[in-house]
Amino acid sequence: MTAFKSVVLDVDSTVSALEGIDWLAERRDATVAATVAALTADAMESRVPLDEVYGRRLRIIRPTRSEIAELGAIYIASALPGVRDAVRSWIAADVRVVLVSGGLRDAILPLAAWLGIVADDVFAVEVEFDDADVASDVRADSPLARRGGKPEVVSSLALARPTLAVGDGATDAELVSVVDRFLAFTGVARRASVVARAAGEVDSFAALTPIVLGL
Ligand SMILES: [Mg+2]
Repeated sequence: MTAFKSVVLDVDSTVSALEGIDWLAERRDATVAATVAALTADAMESRVPLDEVYGRRLRIIRPTRSEIAELGAIYIASALPGVRDAVRSWIAADVRVVLVSGGLRDAILPLAAWLGIVADDVFAVEVEFDDADVASDVRADSPLARRGGKPEVVSSLALARPTLAVGDGATDAELVSVVDRFLAFTGVARRASVVARAAGEVDSFAALTPIVLGL
């Protein structure tokens, strides 16, 4: 019997070393990249509500459908060492693994398939494409594009317990109230405020497997 029956994984800077929105912004000129970076910083310093930032960044970057597909391939190329073997071994042991991300679902689906996670277990931000195949805005009903979205989505899944969540960011730390254990992932970025709210920290998928499987 495994130690956890369900695992909730963040994607950006956890499963993959990439921050997808930054990668998309870098495809634009320096002004766009600087504007997006400033917006992110404003949100982190609470000068702008986090809930507004996601849509605003997307409307500034305006990624195309083909750029989002390219991001999907880069997510896989930037996957953390051992993550594929780890996730597949958990699923083989009957652990349900779900991805819960503030990233773009269309870019995360190829990564999920590569990991052996079914599309129904991928929860991320869905976007609207315009006639020119540009992702012009987030879909109005995207809880993961706002604060409090991750706990809301995870609660609604009624995952088999015990549940474990792993992630690097402030929105992941919000999961402490709805899972049995939250671990800060520090293999890409270590945020002291997230570690402080976590039951512990882990910096690799090799270290995570014995925790998940209870070895
Ligand atoms: Mg993250």
